[in-house]
Amino acid sequence: MISEKDLENISSAVSLADAYFSCRPEKPCVIAEDFFRGDAVNVQNEQNAPVPGAAQSDARTITAQTDTLQSPTAVQTVTRTDEPETNNETALQNIARKIAACNRCRLCGGRTNTVPGIGVPNPLVLVIGEGPGADEDAKGEPFVGKAGQLLDKMLAAINLSRHTNCFIANIVKCRPPNNRDPMPDEAEACRSFLDAQIGILKPRLILAVGRIAAQNILNTTTGINKLRGQFFEYRGIPLLPTYHPSALLRNEDLKRPAWEDLKKFRARLEEITGLSFSTPTQTQSGASTQNRNQN
Ligand code: SF4
Repeated sequence: MISEKDLENISSAVSLADAYFSCRPEKPCVIAEDFFRGDAVNVQNEQNAPVPGAAQSDARTITAQTDTLQSPTAVQTVTRTDEPETNNETALQNIARKIAACNRCRLCGGRTNTVPGIGVPNPLVLVIGEGPGADEDAKGEPFVGKAGQLLDKMLAAINLSRHTNCFIANIVKCRPPNNRDPMPDEAEACRSFLDAQIGILKPRLILAVGRIAAQNILNTTTGINKLRGQFFEYRGIPLLPTYHPSALLRNEDLKRPAWEDLKKFRARLEEITGLSFSTPTQTQSGASTQNRNQN
């Protein structure tokens, strides 16, 4: 005999599962909120931090805990094995050296460090942002600080990471003064570096974060609200624009559409690679890990 208390428990469990797995508009999107709030994801770097310009390809473990009902479960990372790492790494280092010596545009005058990019040399995904801010300029790495931490959580929500299967680069490699938008001639002057990186990395998908990245890459003046969530192509590679993590930090209402974009991105990545990028708590079957090495 099912008691009233049992019915209450079942009902609340079903509601929670609904929210987890369907993210229905009338319910809070628990997965997205947990990941984007940043209180439930712990990306554990087991080895050294990646090297700017030619990051590491070593296997690291992403531990994702999306709720309080399940203990953290190690996710087997999805890495790419069809691209030689060593050659790519050398080629990326060569580009990073050229960037460090570059004075093609006025931004060279105010930089502390150039910021060529960071990630694995054979990524599945390339993330393109706008340009370095103060933290990035000081460290010589893209997406550090709060926006960088949020980007890492957004990527972890679809089983991606700069440490295992992504490379992160910007439209311009030097910091614009006072964090202003890069000017068209600066973006134009820097474009060949990004294109050279794309030629080496050959990512399967590109995620363009923010208006500046999307507009520059797609050569359009259309706003990010219209561009986001739609697939385009750049150099034959599918590209999805979404909001910049800084925008999500400023406006919580953008978290839900950003999560919808990420789910769309994940679905295309799964379609292209034939692999799963769900974390265990996003898999209704409860299967904790899968063999996801790409051949
Ligand atoms: S932003 Fe790009 S083009 Fe301008 S100086 Fe830096 S590396 Fe060179």
